[in-house]
Amino acid sequence: MTNKGWLVAVACSLAAGCAGNSASSSPGTVTPTDAKRFLDTVNDTTLRLGIQQAQAGWVQQTYITDDTEGIAARANQAANEAGARFAKESTKYDKVELPADQRRQLTILKTSLVLATPSDPKESDELSKIMARLESAYGKGKWCPDPAKPETCKNIDDVTRILAVPGDEKTLRTAWEGWHTVGPPMRKDYQRFVELSNKGAKELGFADTGAMWRAKYDMPPDEFTKELDRLWDQVRPLYLKLHAYVRLKLHEKYGDAVPAQGPIPAHLLGNIWAQDWSNIYLLVAPAHADPGFSLTDILKKRKMPALDMVRTGERFYTSLGFAPLPKTFFERSLFVRPKDREVVCHASAWDVDFVEDVRIKMCIEPTAEDFTTIHHELGHNFYQRAYKDLPVLFRDSANDGFHEAIGDTIALSVTPEYLVKIGLLDKAPDPSRDIGLLMTRALEKVAFLPFGLLIDQWRWKVFAGEITPAQYNKAWWDLRLKYQGVAAPAARGEEFFDPAAKYHVPDNTPYTRYFLAAILQFQFHRALVKTAGCTLPLNRCSTYESKAAGDRLNAMLSMGLSKPWPEALEALAGSKQMDATAILDYFAPLSKWLDEQLAGKPVGW
Ligand SMILES: [Zn+2]
Repeated sequence: MTNKGWLVAVACSLAAGCAGNSASSSPGTVTPTDAKRFLDTVNDTTLRLGIQQAQAGWVQQTYITDDTEGIAARANQAANEAGARFAKESTKYDKVELPADQRRQLTILKTSLVLATPSDPKESDELSKIMARLESAYGKGKWCPDPAKPETCKNIDDVTRILAVPGDEKTLRTAWEGWHTVGPPMRKDYQRFVELSNKGAKELGFADTGAMWRAKYDMPPDEFTKELDRLWDQVRPLYLKLHAYVRLKLHEKYGDAVPAQGPIPAHLLGNIWAQDWSNIYLLVAPAHADPGFSLTDILKKRKMPALDMVRTGERFYTSLGFAPLPKTFFERSLFVRPKDREVVCHASAWDVDFVEDVRIKMCIEPTAEDFTTIHHELGHNFYQRAYKDLPVLFRDSANDGFHEAIGDTIALSVTPEYLVKIGLLDKAPDPSRDIGLLMTRALEKVAFLPFGLLIDQWRWKVFAGEITPAQYNKAWWDLRLKYQGVAAPAARGEEFFDPAAKYHVPDNTPYTRYFLAAILQFQFHRALVKTAGCTLPLNRCSTYESKAAGDRLNAMLSMGLSKPWPEALEALAGSKQMDATAILDYFAPLSKWLDEQLAGKPVGW
């Protein structure tokens, strides 16, 4: 869920910027005509370099060799450098009176960078080297239980597999602590990265890198922070109940290793970062609520080919009124792991020419998880096609949470009744079984919320200097306690650097988008099924075959990034405000059930 990036094509139009030669003017003498010419150049070259970057990236990821890596790195570098130059140049037009859509394009440019490099070439070079070192330190990160025997070293996939199986507390603790050994070697570099990236952000007029990230949400940075607090307050009561129930069951399983009151040890929730608790479902499964079918078993039994799974996903979107995917999608996408070469199998969606040449790249297996992921990735593709006629700088989602939310919204409509309709299931389970399905979904989506929020809470404070290097690790665990109610298995002093054990920190990828997406998908789902006329409980509603819901969805998708996100939200949901109460509505039956289980039991930590 969290990092199936749509990657290069769209990312480059904004996050990195893709550019070439630009119109130049000296400050003080710029006119509206100069600004228009500048934007025309930016849009043209963004498209040109963006296509080169996407093509190079596609070949690199589907045919990994030293040469394709070199080609992709060059295309990325060209795009990044031009993007940085354009962001800086856009500030020249700050005081020019311009039509609203041109002013918006300049603002998008100005806030497009994730990393601003300082203009001093020596510092810029130092920062590039640090970023490359951090990325490689994480990528090559290994836990070596016996350094004398390299064959015993475990990479992140190995550690993930160990932590996914509940059972022996000591085994889980050792693996958890083992993976976190990747952090300390990155601490020094991270500290210097913060200094240098802040310097670059200041040169662009932002207080620090975190303020630069928050500036792209169409509201003052501080107001945006308050919005996130408000959303979290809405869902927190539900999270507290889920946390309390899971703690109760873990206490039964692990005894005193899990306190009856207080935080849950981070290594016992089935995931390295305790961000997705799906793997402990069997420990907390409600009695007599098994849905009675397994989509994975059905897909495996039918030996459903990858292409059929993709066609099924596509049919959901066409049933809403969207045009079928182009022929090139099926010719150029990668659906199965090739036997003859190395590829990056991590699922992603691509928009290679920024118009029609959309693709997905996945190594599809006949499982329920991949079935859902297909719907997620196609959501990116249908979004990309819906905004293809806008100026290039507007070919992106209303904010970065929206892009990640669309496919997940559709996946919420993959209900048992829908599976019956398309012939994958004979009969839908009766509503008494809903608690099992809702628990499964809550362990994934509700458990994620505080984690999705806290990563950037930590980083924003680090960039702002409110958290100093001497408190990096303490502040990290303070936040994990505050939001997640999770604690490290043993004391973690400043000799550790645990934030770096999460990919997005050393890779410098902003994380708030995933929190927003987790909230928005339920708000979208509630609005769309209402438009479709569904009067059942939210978790049993599907938008399948509703042209009315499709029209509503398309109204928002086709706006791209051309309008502030509250207006895009209104086009779909009828409100300018993000609203997490749709999550409470969706999980209402589970919430009631949790209340019954928790009567007289402690809640909170
Ligand atoms: Zn995605």
